[in-house]
Amino acid sequence: MAGERIPLVGYLVLEPQPHLVANECESCRARFFDRRNACGSCGGRSFAPAPIATTGHLRAFSIVHRADPGVRVPFVSAIVETVDGTTVRANLVEVSPDPDGVRLGMPVRLVTYPVGIDSEGTECIAFAFAPVAA
Ligand SMILES: [Zn+2]
Repeated sequence: MAGERIPLVGYLVLEPQPHLVANECESCRARFFDRRNACGSCGGRSFAPAPIATTGHLRAFSIVHRADPGVRVPFVSAIVETVDGTTVRANLVEVSPDPDGVRLGMPVRLVTYPVGIDSEGTECIAFAFAPVAA
C-alpha cells in the first residue's frame, strides 16, 4: 500500500496539485515563504496565505560545485520569478548543470520529487523548478 506524502517545507502544498503558498503582507503585498512577525518591507504585522503560480522564468542562477558531504555536485541553484511576480529560490533540475544547459530567462515550472522514505512508507517531498518542455 502506498504511504503518505508529506512536504519537506511548510510552504509546499501537495494537493490537489503541488504549489507553493507564501505569507503575503496585507499592507504592501510583499511575500515571504517563512513565518514572519512583521513585514521586512513595511513593518506590517498582518499576513494572508497567497498561492503562488507554478510557472515562471529563470532570473538568476549559479552552478554550485562545492557542497557538504553527501550533496551531489554540480547542481544549479536558481532564482525563479513566477508569472505572478513572486521570487522563489530553488534548485533547477532536469538540466545539464553546466553553462550550456542553463539559460537566463528560460521558462520553468514547479516540480516535486521524493527525498526520503521512512519504514512506514511515508515519503518526504521536496520541490524544484525544471525547464518547460519545448
Ligand atoms: Zn508589508
